[in-house]
Amino acid sequence: MTEVILVLNSGSSSIKFTLFCGEVPQLEGQISGLGAEPRLTLKSKFAESRIDRVLTAQEGTHSGALAALLPILESELGGRKIDAVGHRVVHGGVEHAAPLLLTVEVIADLKSLEPLAPLHQPHNLAGIHAACAAFPDAVQIACFDTAFHRNHPWVNDTFALPRSLYDEGVRRYGFHGLSYEYICRYLKQTAPDVFAGKVIVAHLGNGASMCAIRNGQSIGSTMGFTALDGLPMGTRCGQLDPGVVLYLLATKGMTPTDVSDLLYKESGLKGLSGISQDMRALTESPDPRAAEAIDYFVFRIRRELGAMAAVLGGLDTVVFTGGIGENSALIRRMVCADQNWLGLSIDVAKNATGEEDISGPDSRIKVLVIPTNEEETIRWHSSALLASQPNLA
Ligand code: ADP
Repeated sequence: MTEVILVLNSGSSSIKFTLFCGEVPQLEGQISGLGAEPRLTLKSKFAESRIDRVLTAQEGTHSGALAALLPILESELGGRKIDAVGHRVVHGGVEHAAPLLLTVEVIADLKSLEPLAPLHQPHNLAGIHAACAAFPDAVQIACFDTAFHRNHPWVNDTFALPRSLYDEGVRRYGFHGLSYEYICRYLKQTAPDVFAGKVIVAHLGNGASMCAIRNGQSIGSTMGFTALDGLPMGTRCGQLDPGVVLYLLATKGMTPTDVSDLLYKESGLKGLSGISQDMRALTESPDPRAAEAIDYFVFRIRRELGAMAAVLGGLDTVVFTGGIGENSALIRRMVCADQNWLGLSIDVAKNATGEEDISGPDSRIKVLVIPTNEEETIRWHSSALLASQPNLA
């Protein structure tokens, strides 16, 4: 019998979901506006139907939202049960380098990691608790954004701080691992020679990071202890001299919460442009501050590209993914401009039409555009875990 897996990505104000029957995504959607004006939108690929419904305030919590979703899933499934719920969990800490069955002990362990990812982990856990209540017969599985990086080299795992801090978990974890895993699996299936080489993946979305990968293994990520480091993002600052944080605390009278809000919610493209966090809005804006924000975004990507190529000891392939990486020909063109020194150029026409391989005719380095699919990574892991434990199926 075809297995049914529900993939959940629970954030602070939304739950995104995809229902898979076997490998086929049958229904996908999201509950947005949790805690404010909750709304359920979904489309069923199977029945080609759509739902767009305002939810009640009671349904505007993680548990209320999944309770509201339950009858819709049941009617879609027509009597079949959900075998597993696969959860995106941002932080697996030092220990978890692979997906896990969620038990009471594992959930408690993941809760202890909340201080490491205060803006994501509590909401991931709220989704887990809600799913345990709504789907008590399903196996619950956690898939971690940090797991892909757990075996990266020590020099990319540490900061130059006293060892005791490393020992207690102040490390460079790296994130977006479920996206990088998807890209690696895709390359392995479609272009094994590319997979086996030296690859830099630029995951450019609202959250943005880059990862240096050799033979499918993470060598280094631009994100570090938290998802703040590295590239500037929609509202997050990216790389920052820690002296700026000390200055804000010591001389501006800001509290840690004020600083956190500034760095996570008011910085990045939004802070730099003063206009928007949305790249599409910035590329369409005539305001020079929008152009400057884009210039900074591109500058940091180019800088990391050079640094990662050096760390990898060469480069074979660059992959663009994420909302910006997949859709913005402008950003790809700006990143790849004047990179002949590296042996990298793009075909401007192919870039503009968004083909998968946008490498220039003389480019030694392959440049690819590959849509990411984190849900598929979670489905795949959940399916593999179910198969490895037949007594659960
Ligand atoms: P998230 O990290 O929230 O998953 P996405 O991967 O969906 O984010 O990326 C969202 C970003 O992609 C936004 O900045 C959006 O403006 C940008 N984007 C989407 N389509 C385009 C486009 N055609 N041109 C430029 N930017 C785009």
